[in-house]
Amino acid sequence: MQQSPSKYMILLYWDKATWYALGSLAASLQRSQIPYEIIKEDPISHIQAKIDHGFHVIYGESTRITTLSSLKDRLKNINKQISSSKVLTVIGGFHASGDPQKILKMGADYVIIGEGEVTFPEFITTLVNNEFQHNSITSLPGIAFFNEYGEYVQTPSRDRINLNDHCPYSDNKDFPLHPPIELMRGCSFRCRFCQVPYVYGNPRFRSIDTITKIVEHYIQHFRPLKKNIDIRFIAPNSLGYMEKKRGQPNYEALIKLLKRLSQYNIRIFFGTFPSEIRPEYITNKTIILFDEVTNRQVSVGFQSGSDRILHEMRRGHSVADGLQAYDLLISRGLTPIFDFILGVPSETTEEQWQTLTLIRELGRKARVRLHYFIPLPSTPWENSSPAPLDSEVYSEIGRLARAKIVMGMFAKQLEIAYKAK
Ligand code: SF4
Repeated sequence: MQQSPSKYMILLYWDKATWYALGSLAASLQRSQIPYEIIKEDPISHIQAKIDHGFHVIYGESTRITTLSSLKDRLKNINKQISSSKVLTVIGGFHASGDPQKILKMGADYVIIGEGEVTFPEFITTLVNNEFQHNSITSLPGIAFFNEYGEYVQTPSRDRINLNDHCPYSDNKDFPLHPPIELMRGCSFRCRFCQVPYVYGNPRFRSIDTITKIVEHYIQHFRPLKKNIDIRFIAPNSLGYMEKKRGQPNYEALIKLLKRLSQYNIRIFFGTFPSEIRPEYITNKTIILFDEVTNRQVSVGFQSGSDRILHEMRRGHSVADGLQAYDLLISRGLTPIFDFILGVPSETTEEQWQTLTLIRELGRKARVRLHYFIPLPSTPWENSSPAPLDSEVYSEIGRLARAKIVMGMFAKQLEIAYKAK
């Protein structure tokens, strides 16, 4: 860095739906000795305060579908109330990566596409070293913007990172961030509703040694603060950790990981939110792994009670696989938390009832997070409309919710899906 750090400041916006992304982002800024602060709520006052102290501000935020409308408001307010010569807005995350133009049209100056760990610090370093001249960054890989003629520009994508080279937490004493530890990124499946494989590609894994070191740091950080140290993970399919072949759990690696972590005085939450497990990975062999962990609930992506819909989704498993996972989990004294989606393209009312009937049957011993299909950018179904729900289906969902069989943000997702149409 050639310039004095006092000349600029990165403000990263904390939101409960997106803050996990800030851990690794903040760590990468720290590694590059780039000054940052984490801000919550009311970005205008934070930005203005920095400007009043002579800083040039780069405002960063990560997106998900659920934060889009509030992001739009924040960008609108920033653009309205703060001079563009004093603040630059840079947005990343799933939704921005999938539909950069939409985010730019909302008023963002730049979008970081895909992984931000390398792109974001490089973006800032280049900008700062070139006295905030925008043309200095326009050839950096992994970004999108509108040029001075209002034309959309997207630079070539970047190579994907090695998770072992990047820290997932920030130990900045003023802004510590310790999200669940990402075991893997990407997925070997290609479900048509899901952004993970289309944004991150095939899976990459954090090594057991690296995970162990991170857990040791979490213990050191949390021991003075908490009685129990809970270690949680991020994995699209936890039992897919270190798999060499799609669909074949790497039992040896999984048991090695869990045994290694069991040596510590911690509570291990494996296969729980924000992770999930595919049903066919729960087998007579892998079910035993749950003896090594603390959680008695396990999150499983069942997704539909209709084999035709599972096929349409490209899930690569059947209803029978879900039922087998249910039996195995229950037999081991574990409670399945199943995710189901209603309203995927081409789903008929009859198929919706198949799912709801199944949910009611499973609901005696399981819990269900019910979702409504939202077409997400960068997925094969991004331009597809959700299948509507008839009033009887909707009433049954209400009854299941009142019986506490289903939980989740169904109504909110329904609203988002219809707004997106
Ligand atoms: S839904 Fe799960 S299994 Fe399917 S592509 Fe997404 S992360 Fe992979």
